[in-house]
Amino acid sequence: MEQFLEQMLQQKYGKTIKEASKEEIYTALLCVTKEKMQGTKRNEGKKKLYYISAEFLIGKLLSNNLINLGLFEETREVLNKYGHNLTEIEEIELEPSLGNGGLGRLSACFLDSIAALGLQGDGVGLNYHDGLFLQRFVDNKQREEKNPWITDTSWLTKTDCHFQVPFKDFTLTSTMYDIDVPGYKGGCNKLHLFDIDTVDESIIGDGIDFDKTDIKRNLTLFLYPDDSDENGELLRIYQQYFMVSNAAQLILKETEERGGSLDKLHEYVSVQINDTHPTMVIPELIRLLTEKGLDMDCAVEVVTKTCAYTNHTILAEALEKWPIDYLEKVVPQLMPIIRELDKRVRNAFDDERVYIIDDKNRVHMAHIDIHFGYAVNGVAALHTEILKTSELKHFYDIYPEKFNNKTNGITFRRWLLHCNHELSEYFKELIGPDFMDDATQLEQLLQYKDNEEVLKRLKTIKKNAKIHLKDYLKMTQNVEIDENSIYDIQIKRLHEYKRQQMNALYAIYKYKEIKNGNLPNRPITMIFGAKAAPAYTIAKDIIHLILCLQQLIENDAEVSKHLKIVMIENYNVTKAEKLIPACDISEQISLASKEASGTGNMKFMLNGAITLGTEDGANVEIHELVGDENIYIFGESSENVIKLYETSGYSSKKIYENDKMIEELVDFIVSKELLQIGDPVNLGRLYKEIVGKDWFMTLLDVKDYISTKERMLNDYEDEMAWAKKMLINISKAGFFSSDRTISEYNRDIWHL
Ligand SMILES: *Cc1c(COP(=O)(O)O)cnc(C)c1O
Repeated sequence: MEQFLEQMLQQKYGKTIKEASKEEIYTALLCVTKEKMQGTKRNEGKKKLYYISAEFLIGKLLSNNLINLGLFEETREVLNKYGHNLTEIEEIELEPSLGNGGLGRLSACFLDSIAALGLQGDGVGLNYHDGLFLQRFVDNKQREEKNPWITDTSWLTKTDCHFQVPFKDFTLTSTMYDIDVPGYKGGCNKLHLFDIDTVDESIIGDGIDFDKTDIKRNLTLFLYPDDSDENGELLRIYQQYFMVSNAAQLILKETEERGGSLDKLHEYVSVQINDTHPTMVIPELIRLLTEKGLDMDCAVEVVTKTCAYTNHTILAEALEKWPIDYLEKVVPQLMPIIRELDKRVRNAFDDERVYIIDDKNRVHMAHIDIHFGYAVNGVAALHTEILKTSELKHFYDIYPEKFNNKTNGITFRRWLLHCNHELSEYFKELIGPDFMDDATQLEQLLQYKDNEEVLKRLKTIKKNAKIHLKDYLKMTQNVEIDENSIYDIQIKRLHEYKRQQMNALYAIYKYKEIKNGNLPNRPITMIFGAKAAPAYTIAKDIIHLILCLQQLIENDAEVSKHLKIVMIENYNVTKAEKLIPACDISEQISLASKEASGTGNMKFMLNGAITLGTEDGANVEIHELVGDENIYIFGESSENVIKLYETSGYSSKKIYENDKMIEELVDFIVSKELLQIGDPVNLGRLYKEIVGKDWFMTLLDVKDYISTKERMLNDYEDEMAWAKKMLINISKAGFFSSDRTISEYNRDIWHL
């Protein structure tokens, strides 16, 4: 590495490693790493996977790529030798903002594992220039700004691959950009990101406003542009079709180049449809195959054997249904095919709940995937059960053989080796390096569960990570936190079902307790990080509440000694990597049945945080693995929650009126203390929502939540008992390696 870096710096800047600036070293490392990746062999085989996703939340790539190429330690040492520091160099890299949350991070972890396992599989998505918005806080409110990340020193390589993508009124020429995906000790794959040359960032006005109708200039500006009006919805259809038409053309081209015959496409290709955004790839492939001479029956059959669908949500409002009118305005060429597919469904099944086109002339995207794909999977055991028994029951009755579970996972290269260097080095000392290839080897740590020296060292490493986070927050947000406090962290997209509002009610509870002289054993630092969708009013009101509480407590000397709230600005992968190693309490408090899986929960567990959670998503599996002693579970069961929805049996108003303590907590949202700081419109609206509706049943679980968290804070004081819980959590985290998830996808679905 030293020699390559030296040469690159000489050639580019005429400098030595010692003389070069951080920026120059970053650029030189990028070039060296890109060259190394080009020299790595590509994964090959008869059959190839295309993982199509609207999001790839890949995070910064320098360290990740160095780890996977086996160059990380060496590079660290070379830089240290010349007085540089890889962590600081990494700060230069901009995080590509190509994803929104868990779903996008999942696709990034999957690409890593697909390559690590030596499987031939590429990602396909869009090259959003400004990605998801950048979040700032102004007057205790979220403000959205553009988030440009593409520069001369990004990991994109422009290719000479272009396709023609036809829309109703015009045709666009695409350009494909590639990002190399090196596998850990394995071959290389690619992430293909499609774009058009005419996109123009200068059309963005105040914040993230732009002309939604100017498709040639706006098509790949933003991920999830506001779709609260017709033009926004049309733009999303433009984006989705652009993504899948390019994907479909690439698939057919590459298959023919490999000598595959298109009437046996399924022998050469698997397409994984990540959530419903890429669904139009099914009619598009059928369209292109019939254009190439296949008859309709044959095209439908071969495409059905090629495509598989992953469901990520049971929230009804998140299941896409496009009005036929809109599809006719953007992609009329697909409508005859979609109508044909609907006709086939109607001929086969006498049940309107499984039709593709409903009586309001809307096209149900998930229904296309299920009828005309060969596999449907949920993302955690509980989630898949709920799909089978309630949300997609009518489909499960027809196609039981298509349904299967693939519990999500995370790549340990990023979420342990990279983000927690000290911890992984210590594990190497204790159990050798095998866990780096096979995460289940972490179970070997169990032999140390009563070893005081090991447990003390775990606490020390946690403390060091807490100090790192403290320094990072001081530097980036100019806030001061206390490493001797307990770090209680909830970081994830803001959504009412994830119930950040319940955690905020805990903060109110603790504030009142401290005011009444009931002081905690040790100070508590409550950390939040969350972006709210720009048009999601209540989510933004919850952010406002948290920021107002932060200010209230900050300015109260009596309380701030014992309680601190920090809301992280612009939560993203880079920040997650700093926060997760430092966490003591991992907040996973969604309303049972609503969080499909969660992956944040897995990252925290792997880094020795203890989960405070409901029996939801993958929390259920964490609970089974670590046992009652090593997790804090509270709240109503998913079964009962589902019943409450079915019977309309929940009334927050009743709970509020019949419970003095809950009433006081909720009333505080519109107390004079908070109204002095905050906006009465936002706080008033949130108060009304919680008392009058509370669709995600915060008040159902809030008391159990508070008492469970109190028990947890007390247990934290028994240092060795707590450290033992940490160790058991880490040792059982191996199951959540995305290498395990991907080998299951391959075994049961892809057969590469
Ligand atoms: C892991 C991750 C998520 C998903 O978190 P959940 O708690 O599972 O919702 C979201 N955003 C980022 C940046 C992540 O790294």
